[in-house]
Amino acid sequence: MAHLYRAAWLLPIARPPIPHGWVAVDRGRVIALGDADTAAPRDIRRVVDVGDAAILPGLVNAHTHLELSWMRGQVPPGVSMPAWAERLMSLRRTVSAEPPQPILDAVREVRAAGTSLVGDVTNTLATYEPLADSDLAGAIFRELLGFNAPAPADLVASVRAQLDDLTPLAWLRPSVVPHAPYSVSPDLFRAIAAVSGARPISVHLGESADELRFLKDGTGAWRDLLGALGAWSDRWVPPGCGPVEYLDRLGLVGPHLLAVHGTHFTDSDLARLAAAGSTVVTCPRSNRWTGAGTPPIESFYSSGVRVAIGTDSLASVDDLNMFAELAEVHRLAPRVTASRLLESATRSGATALGFGADYGTIEPGKLADLITVRLRGGIKDVEEYLVGGIEPDLVSWLPEP
Ligand SMILES: [Zn+2]
Repeated sequence: MAHLYRAAWLLPIARPPIPHGWVAVDRGRVIALGDADTAAPRDIRRVVDVGDAAILPGLVNAHTHLELSWMRGQVPPGVSMPAWAERLMSLRRTVSAEPPQPILDAVREVRAAGTSLVGDVTNTLATYEPLADSDLAGAIFRELLGFNAPAPADLVASVRAQLDDLTPLAWLRPSVVPHAPYSVSPDLFRAIAAVSGARPISVHLGESADELRFLKDGTGAWRDLLGALGAWSDRWVPPGCGPVEYLDRLGLVGPHLLAVHGTHFTDSDLARLAAAGSTVVTCPRSNRWTGAGTPPIESFYSSGVRVAIGTDSLASVDDLNMFAELAEVHRLAPRVTASRLLESATRSGATALGFGADYGTIEPGKLADLITVRLRGGIKDVEEYLVGGIEPDLVSWLPEP
């Protein structure tokens, strides 16, 4: 028996907002939607009117590191990204394992702010059980670092085996991913690409000016940090090109790539990613915090590349509220329509993470993991309102009837 939900606005994302819209749900899946003039299915058991609110798909946070939640407020904003990263690494060395309670709190907070699905990067899998016990779905990116790793293929095989041992769950999909060009050797990149198949590959790319310099001539702050950490490899030859071309040479640029940050991407980087069907994930609040810079968000959109949005971790942002991230994206890219920004925070993220069949839009057959956002009086444009900064107390999950 189906239930029908009515609201002042329905935002299917797959089509324009519907005033006085409704969505019919049966056994957790959307079966139909429409406006006041559309005939609803006949066998509706109950009608729930959510009133002066918008119904939309749960949001998609395409880049976070939930295991770093214990670092909230503990790594001050940096003047440059390598300096910030050095502080993060020294703080991380003070614990032997990621404390579990902040992860549980963060998962609850993410859900309370209206997020359905995350792309969660982990070096330890400490987040797997908390996510398994939650209502959040996720692409679990088991991230590898290794600039002088002696046997990259063996390392990747052992981590793949570790992932195969996890309890298989339909809503958590683990894959092996590389960290970044300055922390992963070419052989390790190739070894990861060789096992990735059709799984999404997330990589931090084009994040800092220091990364560009490192790839150009092998010098700068990342080179110095690798030396200080004892992770430098004399075998490394600087490719002398930009980050996207570098990854393309290594075989990673394709439809499954999520290039995270792109703070320093050029138009030609973006054109190459767009042509390959890759996704750029922007996290502008984190970029400011780490000292990485300001991402060229309007160029992301004008290039035609798929754009998704993430918050990054609580080590570099005040909260994991995707509506707050959307407001910052809107502030930095005022010429990009609210409609496109909302698509980035829903459908584009779900597609990039490999969950497009179930999440990201309100369409028949998809999961009804939907939120309502209470409207304030006098709203002229519901999409503008939703990208203007929504506090979690205005957000609810569509109630079970
Ligand atoms: Zn990150």
